[in-house]
Amino acid sequence: MGKPTGFMEIARRTSTELPPEERIANFNEFHLPLHKDEQQAQGARCMDCGVPFCQSGMMLGGMASGCPLNNLIPEWNDLVYQGQWDLAVKRLIATNRYPEFTSRVCPALCEAACTCGMTTGDAVTVKENERAIVEYGYENGVIHAVPPPARTGKTVAVVGAGPAGLSVADLLNKRGHKVTLYERDDRVGGLLMYGIPNMKLEKWVIDRRVDILKEEGIEFVTGCNVGVDITAEELAARYDAVVLCCGAKQARDLTVPGREADGVYFAVDYLTSVTRSLLDSGLTDGKAVSAVGKNVLVIGGGDTGNDCVGTAIRQGCQSVIQLEMMPCPPVERTPGNEWPEWPRVLKTDYGQQEAIARFGSDPRVYQTTVKEFYKNEAGQLCGARIAKLESQLVDGRRAMVPTGEEYDIPCELALIAAGFTGCEPYVAEAFGVEMTSRGNVADDHYATNQPKVFVCGDMRRGQSLVVWALREGRDTAAVVDESLMGYTNL
Ligand SMILES: Cc1cc2nc3c(=O)[nH]c(=O)nc-3n(C[C@H](O)[C@H](O)[C@H](O)COP(=O)(O)OP(=O)(O)OC[C@H]3O[C@@H](n4cnc5c(N)ncnc54)[C@H](O)[C@@H]3O)c2cc1C
Ligand code: SF4
Repeated sequence: MGKPTGFMEIARRTSTELPPEERIANFNEFHLPLHKDEQQAQGARCMDCGVPFCQSGMMLGGMASGCPLNNLIPEWNDLVYQGQWDLAVKRLIATNRYPEFTSRVCPALCEAACTCGMTTGDAVTVKENERAIVEYGYENGVIHAVPPPARTGKTVAVVGAGPAGLSVADLLNKRGHKVTLYERDDRVGGLLMYGIPNMKLEKWVIDRRVDILKEEGIEFVTGCNVGVDITAEELAARYDAVVLCCGAKQARDLTVPGREADGVYFAVDYLTSVTRSLLDSGLTDGKAVSAVGKNVLVIGGGDTGNDCVGTAIRQGCQSVIQLEMMPCPPVERTPGNEWPEWPRVLKTDYGQQEAIARFGSDPRVYQTTVKEFYKNEAGQLCGARIAKLESQLVDGRRAMVPTGEEYDIPCELALIAAGFTGCEPYVAEAFGVEMTSRGNVADDHYATNQPKVFVCGDMRRGQSLVVWALREGRDTAAVVDESLMGYTNL
């Protein structure tokens, strides 16, 4: 710790966000990073407190507390303060191979567990320090392709090029194995590419990294649906190991009358259509599901629902409502949800802020769900019946049940963001791997019941976070390496 009094003398400062009215005019990222000198001062706020919960990644209260990658946060905070940026890059990428992703989309479990934030809430700006370090690394050539010095002669197929697949592929390639990444979509990145909207993560950031991975020797095969375009048997015969990283994209559906109406979509299908059209044609090809001039109903009050709200507003919707089954969370931590646990408090995310600025009110309506979709004679969605809910004890357990109060709203576009029920089963069936009762692939420390076949990321743990996908990829690479070589140095 270079400056013992830093946390007392220097106030927390974060990047400037463009005001909602301005940023909704396009799909660009809207954070304006601090100047390098200001970021350096923020590094001085880290106390190197001796018990760095920020990097612990332990489970507390059913949620991770601290960084799941065990990033060496106090070390590189100090290096930022000292202005030793090259060294900071090296210490950052020692644990996190893709900080350009996490520093944009991670919810920053580290900051929720920062000792500075214990009483005042003014945690060290860990996430923005991370971003400043990685962008320095790119701008100054510290991050560049480093192909492995020697090859082992072993081959690995990774199925699915989301963050888990990219993570496992990178480390196995670094170790000298020949890695081929099979991806069903036309572009690499998984939900980083087609899920998380452009304003949270501009897609050139993924392409920039993929170019390095290609230069380092990883082969990418896009547009290849494993289990359909190439069989599991072919892959198993061709490679020494196969790692399944296909995500958990099976969306939870609604079984209400009118579900088949034209205008009801799953959130990820909607978000994908917008990003693909944006990248292919700058939104001029007419292939994006359109919210233009429509009353939009988002079902699901979580982060995916928020991404839909922000996207629909940028498209020019007439109005947007976001239904949430649960009651509104508290504004502050409650007893039983103490630091350093993840705070289960009300968060008004970027999309909701934009809805407030654009339409004058928070789009979230708590303790509600859809009871029915209405369609016109042409089969197009034209409205929905909303049911109010309340918390009751049912068979000794708390559940949200209808109060009987209902009302109708106009709506021409409905987006289902009600969570996910596990992985798409056809890949697991093709490989004959066992499943859990929760719809994920069963494993014993990342090994499936099939020889040579491994699994990681959302496909193993269910829909989660990018930072967990990266962590699982890292751990799995070591397991696969050991199975191939009899030992591992990963
Ligand atoms: C809308 C949305 C927003 C999110 N926002 C955030 C966020 O802001 N921050 C955060 O930390 N997390 C966020 N998440 C969660 C995060 O994106 C995921 O936890 C993470 O991407 C999981 O990584 P993964 O590699 O396991 O799976 P995925 O990212 O789902 O990647 C799986 C890949 O496998 C490919 N695939 C599937 N089947 C096959 C096959 N048969 N053959 C070949 N390829 C196949 C898919 O096309 C996909 O590219 C969000 C999720 C959603 C849905
Ligand atoms: S990866 Fe996430 S939790 Fe870890 S240091 Fe970065 S922002 Fe914090």
